[in-house]
Amino acid sequence: MARPLDPGSIVDTHTHTRFSDGVATFEENAAAAAAAGCAVLVSTDHLTLPRVMDPSGSVQVVEAELAEHRGAWEAAAAAHPELECVFGFECDWYPGCEGNVERWSAGAQVRLGSVHWLGEQDDGAWIDDVTDQRIWRELGPDEVWRRYVAAWCSACESPLAFDTMAHPDLPERMRNEGFAATVDLAPLWDEMVACAHDTGRRVELSTAGWRKGVGDYYPSRGLLERFCAAGVPITVGSDAHRPADMCDGIRAAYGHAWEVGYRTVEVPRADGSWEAMPLR
Ligand SMILES: [Zn+2]
Ligand SMILES: [Zn+2]
Repeated sequence: MARPLDPGSIVDTHTHTRFSDGVATFEENAAAAAAAGCAVLVSTDHLTLPRVMDPSGSVQVVEAELAEHRGAWEAAAAAHPELECVFGFECDWYPGCEGNVERWSAGAQVRLGSVHWLGEQDDGAWIDDVTDQRIWRELGPDEVWRRYVAAWCSACESPLAFDTMAHPDLPERMRNEGFAATVDLAPLWDEMVACAHDTGRRVELSTAGWRKGVGDYYPSRGLLERFCAAGVPITVGSDAHRPADMCDGIRAAYGHAWEVGYRTVEVPRADGSWEAMPLR
């Protein structure tokens, strides 16, 4: 087992490189994280996707580059011994994804479970694509939310080994695009909390909501309070897509989590173990 981390150490469990939709290399991300005082950096590029969902291959690490991707991570990890580097993927859940995710993410230490896609593989849409908002116009925000929560619960219930569920209330992303839910979200939140609790999942406290103009973390405070009350553990991540955002807001997020009632955050370690790190 790894030596326990000092309480409140900076850990970023959600980051991207240019192999998926980030802008920088593993090396540049690791250098930025180290400069930000990071203790553990988890790299979580978007896993390979069926071509029909990402025809240009711009979101994902394409299958032909998986080996190069892994090698580049290993080189950056070796070059930064001051930083504990953990290799992972952000894995989309979509109907029928299980075989794909298992095959393409083989060897990863961490798998974030995400729902960005609603619908079937060949008949669906990204819900967080500000350049293509058709699904929001066609269904309206309340129906997008309902379908999102159903998909999210299916992801929790999937046999896949998702270590944490990333940005749990991602539909909030479109609030400022004119697609705020009009119904009371509390019943949907309660469904999510029950699913995470009953399936033993962790959820992510993401600082990205602030950078996306959501005006809160993902999940928003009301949902985080419910997760906390139900005893659902959290991880904390920035979802950084560029070096300047590595570890962004992590310390403030620890303070927020504490205020809501959390006393520990869960941290994946390089040896494959998980640790409940005290916030103070
Ligand atoms: Zn995501
Ligand atoms: Zn991400």
